[in-house]
Amino acid sequence: MTRFILHVLALAVILTSATAKSLNCYPFSFVDRNQWGAEPAKGQTALGAPVQFVVIHHSYQPGVCLTRQECITAMRSMQSFHQNDQGWVDIGYNFAVGGEGSVYEGRGWENVGAHAVGYNAQSIGICIIGDWINVLPPREALEATKQLIQIGVSLGYISPNYVLMGHRQASDTECPGSALFNEISTWDQFRRD
Ligand SMILES: [Zn+2]
Repeated sequence: MTRFILHVLALAVILTSATAKSLNCYPFSFVDRNQWGAEPAKGQTALGAPVQFVVIHHSYQPGVCLTRQECITAMRSMQSFHQNDQGWVDIGYNFAVGGEGSVYEGRGWENVGAHAVGYNAQSIGICIIGDWINVLPPREALEATKQLIQIGVSLGYISPNYVLMGHRQASDTECPGSALFNEISTWDQFRRD
């Protein structure tokens, strides 16, 4: 009997983790590539898991999006800029977060991004869409970002000992904006150097 219960418990654990991976069982609204009308990636490189870094960005432009449609427009414009103007294979970020608190799939958990030189192959890059130099993103966007990081840890894509950083710590850039940078510097596992 005990053995049977253990089997049931083991199965429940397996099903729970499989569901989170395959059915986008997230605590926020998750918008996959099909849902925002992404163009196909022109190439991809597998990202080794778990990664050691989480790098936070802002888009600066496009500005904050507050509805699903505005955020879809922002995602398409960022992907177009990255593929057609920058000549990258895809939108640079692994994920983007809208001001309405939804998470948009960029290159996702399993592909190397193009967002922070020197860190791409060992990080997940998350862009909170908008200009966060002087103002903070909406609370919903900050919460979704924190939840996304925790889910990445629980799914094994992000190391439990990850280091959280802002893009400006990797490159000569003001990204992710001073207001947002000051905010993330208070979050768990942020490291200043
Ligand atoms: Zn950046």
